[in-house]
Parts: sequence; C-alpha cells; structure tokens
Amino acid sequence: MILDINKIRADFPILKEKVYNKNLVYFDNGATTQKPKQVIDTISEYYSKYNANIHRGVHFLSNFTTEANENSRKTIQNFINAKSEKEIIFTKGTTDSINLVAFSFGEAFINEGDEIIISEMEHHSNIVPWQMLCERKNAKLKILKFNELGELKIEELNELITNKTKLISVSQVSNALGTVNPIKKIIEIAHKNNVKVLVDGAQAIQHLKLDVQELDCDFYAFSSHKAYGPTGVGILYGKEEVLNKMHPYQGGGEMISSVSFEKTIYNELPFKFEAGTPNYIDNIAFAKALEYISEIGLENIEKYENQLLEYCTKKLKTIENIKIIGEAKEKSGVISFIIKNIHHNDIAILLDQMGIAVRSGTHCAEPVMQHFGISGTVRISFAFYNTLEEIDYFITSLNKAILMLQ
Ligand code: PMP
Repeated sequence: MILDINKIRADFPILKEKVYNKNLVYFDNGATTQKPKQVIDTISEYYSKYNANIHRGVHFLSNFTTEANENSRKTIQNFINAKSEKEIIFTKGTTDSINLVAFSFGEAFINEGDEIIISEMEHHSNIVPWQMLCERKNAKLKILKFNELGELKIEELNELITNKTKLISVSQVSNALGTVNPIKKIIEIAHKNNVKVLVDGAQAIQHLKLDVQELDCDFYAFSSHKAYGPTGVGILYGKEEVLNKMHPYQGGGEMISSVSFEKTIYNELPFKFEAGTPNYIDNIAFAKALEYISEIGLENIEKYENQLLEYCTKKLKTIENIKIIGEAKEKSGVISFIIKNIHHNDIAILLDQMGIAVRSGTHCAEPVMQHFGISGTVRISFAFYNTLEEIDYFITSLNKAILMLQ
C-alpha cells in the first residue's frame, strides 16, 4: 500500500459519521472533498485567537493575520511553482477566477470579431463566462470537440485557430468524463499562434502535480474546497506580465493605492484584483490543506487514486447493461456511467439508502450529455481517503440497486 490509509482516514472526522446508520462511503469528491482536522482546527484557532481584518490595522492581531494570509499566498505559490507571489490572486473559487479573466482579459484584449476557443467537455463555469464576454464584445466562441472515448480532438485545434483567436480556455481534467486533457500540447500549439491559455484546474489540482512554469499556461484556476480546503476560496494564477496589462475586475477597498474624486490609482499585483475584505481565515486554512496534501505527496496520491480508478472500472465493467461514459486512456479521479433502462437518479437514491454518496445528473456539463444523447450519468469521484473495500461495498450495493430497479 502506497499510503497509510488508516492514518489518513483518522484525520477526516466526517468519515466516522454514519448515514441511515450505515458507514458513510463518500464518492462525491469531484463536487467537494471532505476536510482534515488540520484544516478544521486552523479555522477554529484563527477565529478563537487571531481574528482581525487584514492589511488595514497597525495592531497585533491585524498584523499577525495579515502575515498569515500572505504566508498562505507563498505556500500556494510554492505548491504550483509560480515565479512570484504577485501571480497568486485569492478569489472565491474556480468560477470566480474564470469570470475574473473573462471580464478583465476580455476588457483589455477582446474586440469585435475576435475568437475564443473552449472545449466541448467544459463545466458550465468554463462556458458561460465566455458566452457572456462574446455577447458583450461581439466576439465568437469556437468549440474543440471530443471523440467517443471522451478525448479531445487535438488534431483539429490548428484548424480552429485563426489570426483572430485570442484565448483558449480548457479544463485539465473533465469533471463529467474524468479525461486528463493534453494541456501541455494545447499550450504549445496556442503559443506558437500567439494565443493565451487558461487552464481550469478545478478537478486537477487535488490529483496531479502542477508546475505552472513548466506548463507555461497563462492562467490557471482552481478551488480550495475540491482540494481538502474550505469553501469560498479559490485561486487565479496568472503570469505577471499578462495580469499587469489587465484592468481590475471589481472596485473597492484593498485594490487601490490612492483614491480621490479626480483620480484613483490602482494597487499593484496581486491586490489590484482583490477588492474588499478577503476571506483571509479560509485562505490561511487552504494553505494548511495544501501542506497536508504535500506531506502525503501528489505522486503517491496519483498512484493510489489510479489504483482505485482501475480497480473500480474493472469491477463496473462486469455489470450487465452498463456503459461507462468517458473511456479516455488518460483519466483521473472520476467514473461516469449509465445503466440501460434505469434512471441515474434512481440508482443514486438507492445507493444513498445504503450509505453511499454519489452524484447523478449532468454535472454542470450539459454539452457532454448532449454529445452522448443522454440526460445524465451516475458519477463516482475518488479522494485518497477512499479504499478498495469501499469500492467492493459499492459494487455489491450497485448490483442490489439494479436488481430492485429492473
Ligand atoms: N470547473 C470544473 C471542471 C469543475 O468540476 C467545477 C466544479 N464542479 C468548476 C469548474 C467550478 O468550481 P467552483 O464551483 O468551485 O467554482
């Protein structure tokens, strides 16, 4: 065993909880992960001992918490190997990070007739902000399609790019299919054509080791709550040179260096993009979550979660009338499936009665469902605290549910 699972599970209080008097099996990690006590305790400790608004005070508590918030920024910078802490912007989550770019990059660089490319497998939060931008600017949204396995047709990217293309925004890992996209290749192709790339890392940051300098992406967005940290916090990584050319997304306190009715001068990076009181205690707790992940080691996490994925996929394939939606060669964390003639919600409801939390529906990726001509899937998504025994119990329970529903 690569990981000490018993020790890890002991860190997550919720995993000891029962639902309907059954042991909880939590397979909905793609929606949000559970939190280790190190993260929960940090939140409690800061509210109990150190709470004061940051960046504004001269008093002890304010200075203490400001320093902790800025140290968290450094932890996050190191975690993704960004060149500078100026490139780490605290947001509310992936959605907020993408909207920031769609607005600010859009204002600075997108003109009438310009083109933005996204993929067919994007989450709604990597579709709708670009549609809104295109509507505002009279620009065009183009779609990179995927094949029947759920792999992007990367060979079509060169044809999609024209001299009007300004940005490609694509997920590293699909939340509906589990596909790991070849983002390094996409970035290489984009940069050869002078096109910037935003990577939606919401389903990747918790599973795969990231080095933004090596990857050379222009933007990278992710959420704390999907990576064992608190809700309400996310990160936008952006290259300093690009961020410097973008206008602030929102106006308010913190994002200015001086204000008068005649002229306001904006603050420097990263504060220029952080209007208002930040969610500083959750920012600090998020850094704790990343430290926790680092201690286990992302290489170990990746290896272990791949074992779970392979084991579960093999077992699922023995079930009659199952179709796995998304069979890319490179996958991470997620298995989506349907059972012929049984509604995905009915399966999820029966599994719930047996203590198993799975997600059913479109997973905020309706174009993926449209591609396969289905109304939704059952989705299981793993974290490093899941076990092979839980998968065995899940398969037995799924077989029972199918028997009941047939
Ligand atoms: N992109 C992907 C691929 C996701 O899976 C999600 C969350 N399901 C998001 C973006 C949005 O993340 P959040 O709701 O944390 O902003």
